[in-house]
Amino acid sequence: MSDKPHVVIIGAGFGGLRVAKRLAGKPVRVTLIDKRNYHLFQPLLYQVATAGISPHEIAYPVRAIFRSQKNFDFLMTRVTGVDLEKRAVHTEQGDVPYDYLVVAVGASVNFFGNASLERHALPLKDISDAVTIRNHVLRMFEQAAHEQDVRKRQSLLTFVAVGGGPTGVESAGALSELIRLVLRRDYRTINVDNVRVILMEGAPMILPGFPESLRLSARKSLEHKRVDVRVETLVKDYDGEKITLDNGEIIPTRTLLWSAGVRAASLTGRLGLEQTRNGRLRVSPTLQAPNHPNVFVIGDAAHLEENGVALPMVAQVAMQQAQIVAHNILADLGKTPTREFHYKNIGSMATIGRNAAVACVFGVKFHGYLAWIVWLTIHLIALIGFRNRLVVLIDWAWSYFFYDRAVRLITRE
Ligand SMILES: Cc1cc2nc3c(=O)[nH]c(=O)nc-3n(C[C@H](O)[C@H](O)[C@H](O)COP(=O)(O)OP(=O)(O)OC[C@H]3O[C@@H](n4cnc5c(N)ncnc54)[C@H](O)[C@@H]3O)c2cc1C
Repeated sequence: MSDKPHVVIIGAGFGGLRVAKRLAGKPVRVTLIDKRNYHLFQPLLYQVATAGISPHEIAYPVRAIFRSQKNFDFLMTRVTGVDLEKRAVHTEQGDVPYDYLVVAVGASVNFFGNASLERHALPLKDISDAVTIRNHVLRMFEQAAHEQDVRKRQSLLTFVAVGGGPTGVESAGALSELIRLVLRRDYRTINVDNVRVILMEGAPMILPGFPESLRLSARKSLEHKRVDVRVETLVKDYDGEKITLDNGEIIPTRTLLWSAGVRAASLTGRLGLEQTRNGRLRVSPTLQAPNHPNVFVIGDAAHLEENGVALPMVAQVAMQQAQIVAHNILADLGKTPTREFHYKNIGSMATIGRNAAVACVFGVKFHGYLAWIVWLTIHLIALIGFRNRLVVLIDWAWSYFFYDRAVRLITRE
């Protein structure tokens, strides 16, 4: 084993992956640890959930990504804790000593302590969640196709997405299109005019963080796609058969898609470092943990404020922070100055379905077909692997021209 300083990175997501890449050819040994053996492109998970693409099209094996990086090793295991004094990462496969540690463990779903939601709602965080949603939605149609009881049939055909951020908006739009453009031809006994897709948001507007004109445009597009958008609406309880809102209204439904909350991954609570309310770890502007200069935290797991506001939990933040961390590790080794992190917000976008998206890029706002094309292009380029890009492009083209979805399979009983 080489005696070069050992950099251990926990998490092969957007942040961790980029730190490891930036350290290629540098005088360090890199070990990347993740509980899964692949990098997951989460922004397209909702398309797996709505039968548009296959899971393997948005995932890529970590070992294949780093095939030619000589100072790299991968360990597939779950990290259970870290001994910051002894400088060792505890994993299910034993301890891994480090000289520098990068915590890039991302986020998990936040149900805000609501046990009924945790038990019955369907979150969207990883591949198995997306496949569960796909199976569930298709199963609701199979059951409804032969259901004689009108009320039960209506509850099977009511789909509620909670959370008006990009994931909720994209899921509701894609679900409505799946139903009205594709499933209507598969289930001829079901009148799709009776199928309801409802998007609920607690705030007064969907897509908080987007300029107002784009929020309005997104809402109009959703309504055009027959999504019932309800703002200032809070879910109090869900028992798997009916939602109870905080105003007392009851909505019978077998489907509640939950994308209304995220918090830092659970490991952040086991490090003995200072956390915020949603579990993120406070870091200095150089992304170091207080009193532990050899421990860096990035991405969704890190809490850093700019102009008094916490940085958003988005891929761009994680990737830009990764560059600073790689620089700062090498700077510390070479006794040169470290750099502080400043977020360059390129913009944000969300798609609502075919021909419809909203985008604000470098301060320029646009929506409709042009925004949709830009959205498609950016997501295609960002996918890892030429094969994945090609297959996703073919799937998109197929569903665009033939009003068909590639993966309408119920794969679990
Ligand atoms: C459905 C969905 C849609 C999204 N859409 C967008 C979008 O359109 N645009 C955008 O910018 N952002 C989007 N995001 C957010 C974006 O994916 C995150 O901000 C980004 O992934 C954060 O990167 P990260 O490196 O911090 O963590 P992640 O990319 O989440 O990676 C964390 C890694 O850590 C691993 N890990 C966690 N705990 C452990 C452990 N104990 N042991 C071992 N490994 C562990 C995980 O397996 C994972 O691979 C979306 C997120 C979701 C869930």
